[in-house]
Amino acid sequence: MSENAIFPGDKIASIEEYEAGNNAFDDGDMVRAATVGEKDIDKESRTANIKHPKLLSIPKVGDIIIGTVAAVMSSMIAVSIDYINGKPTTSKVECVCGTRNLRIRNVALVNDIVTLKIINHLNGTIHAAINEPNLGILFTKCRKCGSKVVPMRDAIKCTECGWIDERKLSANFGNSDFVNLRG
Ligand SMILES: [Zn+2]
Repeated sequence: MSENAIFPGDKIASIEEYEAGNNAFDDGDMVRAATVGEKDIDKESRTANIKHPKLLSIPKVGDIIIGTVAAVMSSMIAVSIDYINGKPTTSKVECVCGTRNLRIRNVALVNDIVTLKIINHLNGTIHAAINEPNLGILFTKCRKCGSKVVPMRDAIKCTECGWIDERKLSANFGNSDFVNLRG
């Protein structure tokens, strides 16, 4: 994921130092991003800008996406795509991912953050895979009480109520603060 990714409303500079430039506004105190993109500070013109990414709205086969679980069905999940190969996208394209073969009770919950690999486009639907070590859940919460969970082998355990649940975790689970992606 791009570490420079900025979301609407994020502070990008102080108005004492910079004026709001492209895709930015000032709130009387800070210059803030008006759109998703990358921060671009222009020291010569003293403006703080957001460079809008090229919005690759449709991921290609083999692309790695990060998205938010929008729906969980008995044999698949639907995921709203937030990043394609680390680049933010605002197009809110959805992909689906079959989960029947995983033999996991709760592969994902709605609003979990998940990373998937695009495997094909069939009849206008984008299909993704979750069955590789790096793929899977990056952020989830306790199904019972909504608290933080920690991984336990292939399972997760709630730090508050102790509920043990299953997920298809990514090998990168817990490595980064993906909470920020949820806006
Ligand atoms: Zn809990």
